[in-house]
Amino acid sequence: MRFFKSFTFLLLLCICTTAIGQRTLLHCGKLIDGKSDQVMSRVTVVVEGNKIAAINQGYTRAGNGDRVIDLKNKTVMPGLMDMHVHIEGQTSPTRYVEGFTLNEADIAYNAQVYAKTTLMAGFTTVRDLGGTGVNIALKKAINAGKVVGPNIYTAGKTIATTGGHGDPTNGWRKDLMGDPGPREGVINSEAEARKAVRQRYKDGSDVIKITATGGVLSVAKDGQGPQFKMDELKGIVETSKEYGFVSAAHAHGDEGMYRAVAAGISSIEHGTFMSEKTMDLMIEKGTFFVPTISAGKYVVEKAKIPGYFPPVVARKALEVGPQIQATFQKAYERGVKIAFGTDAAVFPHGDNWKEFGYMVEVGMKPMEAIQAATVKAAELLRIDDRYGSLEANKIADIVAVDGDPIQDISSMGKVSFVMKGGKVYKD
Ligand SMILES: [Zn+2]
Repeated sequence: MRFFKSFTFLLLLCICTTAIGQRTLLHCGKLIDGKSDQVMSRVTVVVEGNKIAAINQGYTRAGNGDRVIDLKNKTVMPGLMDMHVHIEGQTSPTRYVEGFTLNEADIAYNAQVYAKTTLMAGFTTVRDLGGTGVNIALKKAINAGKVVGPNIYTAGKTIATTGGHGDPTNGWRKDLMGDPGPREGVINSEAEARKAVRQRYKDGSDVIKITATGGVLSVAKDGQGPQFKMDELKGIVETSKEYGFVSAAHAHGDEGMYRAVAAGISSIEHGTFMSEKTMDLMIEKGTFFVPTISAGKYVVEKAKIPGYFPPVVARKALEVGPQIQATFQKAYERGVKIAFGTDAAVFPHGDNWKEFGYMVEVGMKPMEAIQAATVKAAELLRIDDRYGSLEANKIADIVAVDGDPIQDISSMGKVSFVMKGGKVYKD
């Protein structure tokens, strides 16, 4: 009986200490909090449950039941955020037949591998800018703790115009091509634009993505021309705002980009041939630029391999790819707001960190590049009240890299610790 009583007592004690909050103390040699431009040294991040409870100077001594994680030789920072990925797929020479060979279940199994790879590379949040709809199911499974991956804010299926960059049946045989509509993300009027946005709301998308101009990887002639009329853009952006969606426009050519910015889109993706006039309008309207330099570099490399892309795609890759980094430099110097984004899927997931190097290579300060992937990205997604910086009461999404990325940006490729929502995924 006595044994039973003390056992119950012990059990209660265990439950209580866990509930009251077993603390995790991260002893951080160096800390970048996302907000300050200074790197702090010898700091303790106190995590309780899924949140940051405090940030203390020095290495806080562990109390009873506290767990200590030694990150004294590392640089700790907020979980990284990539504002442009496609979590469902990944580049391969057989990519163009996969639409006919993969079932949704195949896509789902692949996607969970990419999701895990992305998280292990230190990206605790991604904005997924288009796939088949499996991305929405994946997000739910991750949120339910059934699959390991980052927080996903997904567009579901993108929105395009007939024959436009995101028309899912481009280049297909006539009997297969059909005439996709708003449900499949193809619109040709303001009314259809509104319907497509509402359909995405119904599907469970978190953000809206449009393909405002031609693009590189679609089997279509033009990679740059505008593909939406102003009334169609208005239908998309106004409806997006009504439903609380952040919106993103893929754009290479300047005219389609300018229209999207004028209509009030939240971010421009790629931005390849962005004029100074468009940059100034973006500054005026507070539009973010998500450069995806990595994708540009990668497609140029692959376009030189005969047969990797269809010829029409290879030609466009060589026109568009080399330009993005130079445009990023101009936009950055002019003062356009930059959020980090790579277009992962165009290159293998997990290599997202290389973008930091491409940004720094043309003049961005390493600290600003890290902020673009933390606090700025959170601002773009409008989740900066909970994510993007290391402060008391924010969600405990925390990563650490070996070395000091302020001295050597390639450290961003050496992520050795990942915590998401207070749970350690990599140590
Ligand atoms: Zn993309």
